[in-house]
Amino acid sequence: MNAKCILCERVDELDNREFKTKQLRNKPIRMYLCPECEHRVAINTISRVNSGHFNFHKPVVMSNSELKNLIEGNAK
Ligand SMILES: [Zn+2]
Repeated sequence: MNAKCILCERVDELDNREFKTKQLRNKPIRMYLCPECEHRVAINTISRVNSGHFNFHKPVVMSNSELKNLIEGNAK
């Protein structure tokens, strides 16, 4: 199966036995990134996260013990 990278428009031959290829084939909307672009994006993301000017807009996940400590700390 051939797939075109959405960023650099390079056409790659994908291994049909790989899980990623199957995912791409079963859901055509899913975008394909060539390994080079994926690497470039990953490096930029990591450097942005490490810059300290980047906030995740995700709910904060706390373990039960952390939550318990927080509640007990507020009660005192
Ligand atoms: Zn690419």
